[in-house]
Amino acid sequence: METLHIIGGGMAGSEAAWQAAAMGVPVVLHEMRPGVGTFAHQTGNFAEMVCSNSFRSDDDERNAVGLLHWEMRAANGLIMQMADRHQLPAGGALAVDREAFSEAVTAALRSHPLISFADGEITDLPTDGHWIIATGPLTSGALAESIRAVTGAESLAFFDAIAPIVYADSIDETVAWRQSRYDKGETEEEQKAYLNCPMTRDQYEAFIDALLAAEKTAFHEGETAGYFDGCLPIEVMAERGRETLRFGPMKPIGLTNAHQPDVKPYAVVQLRRDNALGTLYNIVGFQTKMKYGAQTAVFRMIPGLENASFARLGGIHRNTFLNSPTLLDDRMRLRARPNLRFAGQITGVEGYVESAAMGLLAGRMAAAEILGRDLPPPGPDTAMGSLVHHITGGAEAKTFQPMNVNFGLFPPIEARGGRRGRKDRYKAYTDRAKETFSQWLAGQG
Ligand SMILES: Cc1cc2nc3c(=O)[nH]c(=O)nc-3n(C[C@H](O)[C@H](O)[C@H](O)COP(=O)(O)OP(=O)(O)OC[C@H]3O[C@@H](n4cnc5c(N)ncnc54)[C@H](O)[C@@H]3O)c2cc1C
Repeated sequence: METLHIIGGGMAGSEAAWQAAAMGVPVVLHEMRPGVGTFAHQTGNFAEMVCSNSFRSDDDERNAVGLLHWEMRAANGLIMQMADRHQLPAGGALAVDREAFSEAVTAALRSHPLISFADGEITDLPTDGHWIIATGPLTSGALAESIRAVTGAESLAFFDAIAPIVYADSIDETVAWRQSRYDKGETEEEQKAYLNCPMTRDQYEAFIDALLAAEKTAFHEGETAGYFDGCLPIEVMAERGRETLRFGPMKPIGLTNAHQPDVKPYAVVQLRRDNALGTLYNIVGFQTKMKYGAQTAVFRMIPGLENASFARLGGIHRNTFLNSPTLLDDRMRLRARPNLRFAGQITGVEGYVESAAMGLLAGRMAAAEILGRDLPPPGPDTAMGSLVHHITGGAEAKTFQPMNVNFGLFPPIEARGGRRGRKDRYKAYTDRAKETFSQWLAGQG
């Protein structure tokens, strides 16, 4: 039988190796640590948690990441199995003893008879054989260059610039209006592609004060190498002058407030559709390094966003990731070289759990292919399926930025409005997902 090679023994590569081996396929796991390090990893263990020791919410009924836990447990995921075994008390979150966790993942992989190991850095994209590339946000420089040579320079980023994403149904459209600047676009849909939130002068000044005062996170040591001025955080733009944002992402020109056509806004915050479903909107140009708590408070000062629910908050990190919507097919294969699959954070998902989930899928898909079968992804109404559909097609390719799992990626279910309605809706999402995911698993025998 042919061998599956996996580059990177992080969250995704470890899970991929485990899944493929469980299907009877021999695996070689290539890992460069500890010989070659990164600025964030400290050990030579597999599945090292580079920062927080939390896998976030474990609520599989009303939380999308908790649902992803459920799906990974149902699929015998190694990462979840070891996380459960080394869990620490953390309220509703799944926090773990990081050392015991990664040692346990390492021991499980090392004792699997079908998994062998090749130490050292892979510097070039392989040309033949079955491969999964799961080298993560800190993919080594040589390999990144080799990937760029195949995908094109524009298609592999070295930093993310994440603007906050808001659930469309939490935007107050009695305040915000739909219009593209200067009504640009051929179709009515394009001419109304943006949601606009108007600000008076007082509101703008208060917003700038809040931005300047907000608590910020710092870059990790070593993280800024190669960081460039093109994706400045909004608070840094505000620091350069109180008017900078009004002449940048918040400029009010070319827009007429549909609710108050006679009143010229002093500044305008624009939100742009972020997914094909139209359930998510990103705040244009609002990448930020404000702390999460501060972001929520500051962004809810924007008229129309007072009750905004955030699918994802903003950030800027050192992060190597592909423009997956243009490069990968729905089996996670590089269209230009289908013998290469990608998995984990490099595909443009964000977080330990999401990365491991993409490893789980890629591992199963690659093993199925070696066994002469085709494994389609789970439906878009599951957590795993919603993520893979988003990165391989549902997301806007032009503005693609890493995504964490959230209910905005799911095909909507109508339910009663209001706060209570949202909770009911989440339960309906998770019930539907569990059924679809169970069927997907059952279909694999
Ligand atoms: C500084 C930092 C902090 C983060 N903090 C968090 C957090 O708190 N919570 C969270 O959920 N997510 C966090 N993330 C995001 C992300 O979820 C994690 O990085 C996660 O580990 C990604 O999983 P992965 O398998 O894709 O990559 P990784 O877990 O990084 O695994 C990739 C592996 O590939 C290896 N590798 C790289 N290049 C090569 C090569 N050329 N040849 C051989 N091996 C190679 C690396 O050594 C590594 O072991 C953070 C990311 C960074 C960079």
